[in-house]
Amino acid sequence: MEKVIILGGGLGGLITSIKLALAGIPCLVIEKKSYPFHRVCGEYISNEATPFLEQLNLFPAEFTPPLIKRFQLSSSTGRNTVLPLDLGGFGISRYTYDYFLYQKAKTAGVNFLLNTEVESVTYLKDKFEIRIAKQTLHGDIVIGSFGKRSKLDIQLNRNFIKKRSPYVGVKYHIRRDHPADLIALHNFESGYCGISNIEAGKTNLCYLAHRDTLRRHGSIEHMEKEVLFRNPLLKTIFSESEFVFSKPEVINEISFETKAPVENHVLMVGDAAGMITPLCGNGMAMAMHGAKLASELVIRYFSEKEFSRQNLETTYREEWRRAFTNRLWKGRQVQRLFGNKILSNLAVNLAIYSSPIAQGIIRNTHGKIF
Ligand SMILES: Cc1cc2nc3c(=O)[nH]c(=O)nc-3n(C[C@H](O)[C@H](O)[C@H](O)COP(=O)(O)OP(=O)(O)OC[C@H]3O[C@@H](n4cnc5c(N)ncnc54)[C@H](O)[C@@H]3O)c2cc1C
Repeated sequence: MEKVIILGGGLGGLITSIKLALAGIPCLVIEKKSYPFHRVCGEYISNEATPFLEQLNLFPAEFTPPLIKRFQLSSSTGRNTVLPLDLGGFGISRYTYDYFLYQKAKTAGVNFLLNTEVESVTYLKDKFEIRIAKQTLHGDIVIGSFGKRSKLDIQLNRNFIKKRSPYVGVKYHIRRDHPADLIALHNFESGYCGISNIEAGKTNLCYLAHRDTLRRHGSIEHMEKEVLFRNPLLKTIFSESEFVFSKPEVINEISFETKAPVENHVLMVGDAAGMITPLCGNGMAMAMHGAKLASELVIRYFSEKEFSRQNLETTYREEWRRAFTNRLWKGRQVQRLFGNKILSNLAVNLAIYSSPIAQGIIRNTHGKIF
């Protein structure tokens, strides 16, 4: 019988586990892969999370992550402008950062089952039953931090999984002379591509495209040449960079549909609770913020007798909605401006001729320091 079982060891799961372990609550993280590994992600972390990370000694200072303070936006025709970023952020690869957090979690006393996929989670008589290959585990509290899409979403019969999602995500690490303090967002037909620096002199190039565009062009390589290259800035970046990976990391079926933060008594954290459109560049900060909310309430559940499971679930649901629902909605609205020739030009014109409005929009999709 485990006190807390955490399903999925991404940012949300790892940070929840560290917070709980530091409060003396034993927990087990079950992760289907083994660290370190690459993930599709723009790898830009919003500074809304920095004070929280510093407080827990989880800011990756030893990798001297580039500090990002300016934002370049280009339309699909290459028309572009640069704006200051109020809050800004820093860049670090998931390969490095998730491994760094895994080591911090181990030091804090968290237990791990790696290379282990959770098959199902069931709530029975005030306890959870977790099935992994040839074994059943039991837990008092379960955190669902299994990311944007998992077989557990099917098992839990979640609504969003019944709809197909048209987005494909592609990531490379490249080497080029990209300004350390700049994150760029370049539009192309049906998608957008983020570029910003990470540790060790590398640059992350990550884009979101529509499945139909990929299907029409047959392969990622053709789609890049036929579609992304129509933005002259992207053509230059692709043509003049050294590619570190032999082939890109790719994921599909990325969904931005609304999800429930508590499902079948499982507290969902990070993308499992709701995914913000990547153009906002703060899904990771949201996963960390969600981990903070969930872990602090779980600590209360174990320390205050009168704080029941029902109190835990209701309070988490309310706090989660207060912190994120509005931002997720705004992110979906802003995404409509992207990936379309006319609308992306309009967005760039807005940024050029009315930068206070554009900065207001950026501010609205970002959260506050937590
Ligand atoms: C194209 C793209 C670009 C992005 N760019 C940015 C960016 O620049 N900045 C930013 O802040 N955010 C960005 N995001 C969002 C960010 O990647 C996510 O919000 C963040 O990773 C969420 O963390 P998480 O812990 O919820 O999930 P994840 O980090 O995805 O972790 C989930 C973990 O659960 C494991 N898992 C899943 N199912 C099971 C199972 N059944 N059993 C065991 N383990 C399981 C997975 O292996 C995985 O390790 C981007 C997303 C996309 C798609």
